[in-house]
Amino acid sequence: MILRMKAFDSTGLYFNRAADLMDLSENIRRLLLTPKREVQVQVSIERDNGEIATLIGYRVQHDDSRGPMKGGLRFHPDVDLDEVRSLAALMTWKTSVVNIPYGGAKGGIAVDPVSLSPRELELITRKFVDGIHDLIGPDIDIPAPDMGTNDKIMAWFMNQYAKYHGFNPACVTGKPVEMHGLPGREEATGRGVGILTFKLLSRLARKPNQTRVAIQGFGNVGSHAAKFLHEAEYRVVAVSDVTGGYYRAEGLDIPKMLRWALDHRGTLAGYKEAEQISNEALLELDVDLLVPAALGGVITKRNAAQIKAPVIIEAANAPVDCEADDALAERGAVVLPDILANSGGVTASYFEWVQNRQRYQWGISRVRQELDRVLTDAFEQVWQLSVERKVSLRTAAYIIGIGRVGRATVLGGII
Ligand code: GLU
Repeated sequence: MILRMKAFDSTGLYFNRAADLMDLSENIRRLLLTPKREVQVQVSIERDNGEIATLIGYRVQHDDSRGPMKGGLRFHPDVDLDEVRSLAALMTWKTSVVNIPYGGAKGGIAVDPVSLSPRELELITRKFVDGIHDLIGPDIDIPAPDMGTNDKIMAWFMNQYAKYHGFNPACVTGKPVEMHGLPGREEATGRGVGILTFKLLSRLARKPNQTRVAIQGFGNVGSHAAKFLHEAEYRVVAVSDVTGGYYRAEGLDIPKMLRWALDHRGTLAGYKEAEQISNEALLELDVDLLVPAALGGVITKRNAAQIKAPVIIEAANAPVDCEADDALAERGAVVLPDILANSGGVTASYFEWVQNRQRYQWGISRVRQELDRVLTDAFEQVWQLSVERKVSLRTAAYIIGIGRVGRATVLGGII
């Protein structure tokens, strides 16, 4: 609970730091921070054993001044309204930093998807759509996968939405490729982490093959980031998942670990060709690059002094809280903020939505090329501003993100 509150507080604090430098008035801050709409719906199903289970589903629609609201749907036991609200605001700044024509939103259900059968998961998804279908849509708010959700869930989502509003694949992104999905969407967040890491390290004059990397998380984001960094000749020395951390000073055999996870229900349990360490120890390793790619709130005041990596890439949303961010900055560490670092996913979602609306399928090379272009442009703008204004990359990203949203809000007219 404390960690989640921290993540939420930190988003507001990061916003205010940038807003101070932009001389934004209290009234404008309040306008930009207040979500447009928050909904909470009952999601009740009959479980396989005949018992009734009642869950709560959330959707927070933060801002639509730059376009329809956009953001993932999270299935995780820790989900609550505070967390979803904070993640929705992050989406607004994220879509703005990469300059795609969206606002921000986020949804979630407090449930452990691992504890559910496929039938139960499908029922929960469909019931949630029943509760919110009138409030979302291709021009209103477009959900996507996030922690605990995947392309299959998005397929059920699209199918259930069609029962009310007719065929419209652009109502949700991150769908299976066979069902109006985008080749390259699944890898996009991890690939984006790789592209941006390369840009950042070139600026810092660090060579890939001399860079030892630790990645926390081996889910969709962490595993694709590991693959991409390994292929680009970085030395990935540690990765972790729910079963703990795996360390090998000479570098891990990432292709082998990816195959292992595929063959072992998505986890690294039982992988022997590495030293077993804890998830906490992974964060504190003496490496050149740390990539938190799992939960939020993992680097806080409690462990900030132990973090040795000089460069941190926030592949997860809100992994570093404000106090820890200050401590890291004092030591000269460079943090690539979440609203830029993991924006590859939503950028590819944008391509999927465009493709769905045009009824025209893109190939993987076009997706990768456009992803590279959008992320490179965003990185260069953030880097330049951080140099010009002598601020952190995070504050520069927030200034750009807030600036675009603020201008669109004023141009659209407030009254
Ligand atoms: N859940 C992802 C994020 O946090 C992707 C959102 C999307 O594709 O809309 O950025």
